[in-house]
Amino acid sequence: MPHSDLSFMHPFFLGAYAENDHVFEKTLLEFLRDHAYWRRNFHPENRPPIPTNAPYREDYNEFLAQMQQELHTLSADLKKSVPFFSPRYMGHMAADLLLPGVLAQIMTILYNPNNVSDDAAPATLAKELEVGTQLARMFGYNTDPSEEPCAWGHLTSGGTVANYEGIWNLRSVRFYPLSLAQAVKDLGIKLPDVGPKNQQLDQYSKWELFNLSIRDTILLMRKVTAHVKEEYEKKQFQAFSEAVIKESVAHLGMAGFFLRHPEIKQPKLVIPQSAHYSWEKAMKILGMGTAHIEKIRTDVHMRMEISHLKEVIEEHYQQQIPVLGMIGVLGSTEFGSVDPIHKMVEVRDEYAAKGFYFGIHVDAAWGGYMTSLFRLPDGGFVPHEDVCKEFKYFPHKGTWQAFKAVSEADSITIDPHKLGYLPFPCGAFVSKDSGVLDFISQKAAYVFDVKEDPLKKPAAKKLLGLGQYIMEGSKPGSAAAAAYVTHRCIPLHNEGFGRIMAHSMRACEYFYDKLMDVRRHLKELVTITIPFTPDTNLVCFAINPKGNPHLALLNHFSRKVFQHMKINPQQPLQAHDFFGSFTSLSKDALTDEDAARIFEELGINGDTFCHHVTDRTRESDHIYLIRHTLMNPWLMYEDNGMNYIDRYCAFLFRAIKTEMGRAIGRG
Ligand SMILES: *Cc1c(COP(=O)(O)O)cnc(C)c1O
Repeated sequence: MPHSDLSFMHPFFLGAYAENDHVFEKTLLEFLRDHAYWRRNFHPENRPPIPTNAPYREDYNEFLAQMQQELHTLSADLKKSVPFFSPRYMGHMAADLLLPGVLAQIMTILYNPNNVSDDAAPATLAKELEVGTQLARMFGYNTDPSEEPCAWGHLTSGGTVANYEGIWNLRSVRFYPLSLAQAVKDLGIKLPDVGPKNQQLDQYSKWELFNLSIRDTILLMRKVTAHVKEEYEKKQFQAFSEAVIKESVAHLGMAGFFLRHPEIKQPKLVIPQSAHYSWEKAMKILGMGTAHIEKIRTDVHMRMEISHLKEVIEEHYQQQIPVLGMIGVLGSTEFGSVDPIHKMVEVRDEYAAKGFYFGIHVDAAWGGYMTSLFRLPDGGFVPHEDVCKEFKYFPHKGTWQAFKAVSEADSITIDPHKLGYLPFPCGAFVSKDSGVLDFISQKAAYVFDVKEDPLKKPAAKKLLGLGQYIMEGSKPGSAAAAAYVTHRCIPLHNEGFGRIMAHSMRACEYFYDKLMDVRRHLKELVTITIPFTPDTNLVCFAINPKGNPHLALLNHFSRKVFQHMKINPQQPLQAHDFFGSFTSLSKDALTDEDAARIFEELGINGDTFCHHVTDRTRESDHIYLIRHTLMNPWLMYEDNGMNYIDRYCAFLFRAIKTEMGRAIGRG
C-alpha cells in the first residue's frame, strides 16, 4: 500500500467535511429509537407520567420555546469553536474524533452509567477495566491474572489525574513497610523471617524498609498479614490491622509520618525539566511539596540527560535521601520528545541492587498510543529495522528502545483524548501490578469484618468497587464505552491503531522536510530554526529576521507571524487559513550549551537572553516558538497537486514575507 493512501481511514472519522454524516445520522437515530423503546419496555403496564395531551398546555410550550432559543444560542456560540477536525488545524493536541468513540459515547450518555462502582454501571464498568487491559497489553504488561504481576488500568479525567495517581500509588506502597514494622513492634507481634533477606522484621533498618521494591512490599504485606491472621486471635488481628492503618502516611500525613521516623528523610520525586506542570500540581495536592522535586536537565534533543540523572541519583544514594520515583516522559507536551526510558530502567536496576529503590512512572499522556505502532498483533515488538522501513527518520534507535522499555515501568499515564482521538474527558492510568490495590483501598483490604479473605479476592472482583481505589468518585461510563468500542474496532497494534500513528509520523516527517524548504527559500530574509529535531509528531520552530541579534526582537517577530495562525473569535472562522500553537523556552528550561547552540543557529547574541528579574518587559527571558501538532488524519490529502502541509508552508512563507515587509516599512 502506498504511504499516501489514506483510504483505510475513510470510515474512521466523521470527516473534515462531515462526509460520513449519513453513517452518523443513521446510527444515532437508530440508537436513539432503540433507547426510547428500552424505556417504554420497562413496565409497559404503567401509565406514562407525561400525558399525551401535555403538549397542548401553554406552559409546556413556553418552556420548550425557551429551551429551543437557548439551544439555538448555544449552537451559534459553538460556531466560535476551534475547528479541531480540519487538516488546517495544527495547533494543540486535538483533531477529529474517531467515529466509533463518538457514537458509543453519545449513545451511552442516555443511559448515564456511573463507573464509580458496579451497582451504578453494570454494563460499562467491565468495559472500563477491559480498556485498562487493552492499554496494558499494548504497553507489554502481563494481563493474565493467573500470573503475577498482573496489570490493571482504568480511565481518569485526563493525564493530570493519572499522574497524581502514579505518585499516590507509589507513596501508598513505598511507605507501607515502615508503618507495618512500627505496628508489629508496638504490639509485640511475633513473626517468622520475612522480606527479601528472609530475616526478622526488626533486623531491617528503616532505610532498608523504605527501599523495598514494590513486589517485595506486596509479598511482605501478604506474608505478615496471613501469619497474624492465622496465629493470633481475631481480636488481636483486628488490633494489628488498625495499628497498621494508624501508622500509615494516609492517616498521619507527611509531617506526622516523618516525625515518627526521623531517621528517614522525606523522599524526592525525580522528573525531567521537560515534564508537564501536572507533576508540580501533584506534589502540591498530595502535600509532598514542590521542594521535594528534583529536576533533571534535558539534552540537545529535549530528552532527559542520563548523565545528570545518574549524578543526582548517586548524590541521593550517598546522602541517604530516598527517591519515591522517577518520571519518564514518552512524548513531551511541548516537543514530543521521548525520554530514554530504557536507560532509566538500567539506573533503577543498578541502584536497586545496592538497596536503593525507586519506582518508575512513565508519563505517556501524549506518546502512549504511538506504542501501537511497535506492537504486533501477537504481542511481539516490531524490530527496529522493520519500523524504520516505513519512515524516513523515525524512529531514532533510542526512541524505539524507550518505547520497548515502557513495560519495565511500574505505572503509565496515557490520554485517549489526545492521540486516541476520543472525546474529552478521557485519560488513563495503567499499573503493572494489581497487587498495589491492597495498599490503596479506602477500606484496608486486610481489615476484619470481611467474610472472604480479601487478599485472595481477585483484582477483577475488588475493582467492582472502582471508586475505592482511584482518585475520582462518580465518573462517566460513557467515556469507557467510547474507548472500549474504539479499541475493539481499531485494535492497539501495528495493523490497527498503529497505522493511524504511522500516518501521523509520516506527516510530521513531511512537514519537517517542507519546513526546511521554506527555510532555504527565505534564508536571505529570515533564519528558521528547529531547536529540537522531533522524536514524535510535534514540531517547534523559531524565526529570526536576518541580521537581528536581539532576542526580544526575534520574539516580537515570531509573535507577529503567529498572529496569522491564531484563533481570533472576533473574526469568522473562514477568515482563518491555518492554526498553530506556540510555546516558549525559558532560561531555566535550557542548559547554557543548548541556549548557545540555538542562538548561534539563529544569529542571536546570547547576552540579550535575560532572566525575567532583569527583564521588565519579559520579552527577552524566553525563546518564543511556533508549535505544530501533526495529528490530523488528512494532512497528506492531496488535491490540486498540493496537500495541507504544502498549503501551510506556502501560507507560512507569505506570512513571513508580509511581516518582514511591515517591519521594513516601519523602518
Ligand atoms: C497533556 C499532558 C498531560 C496532562 O494531561 P491532561 O489530559 O491535560 O490532564 C500530562 N503529561 C503530558 C506529557 C501531557 O502531554
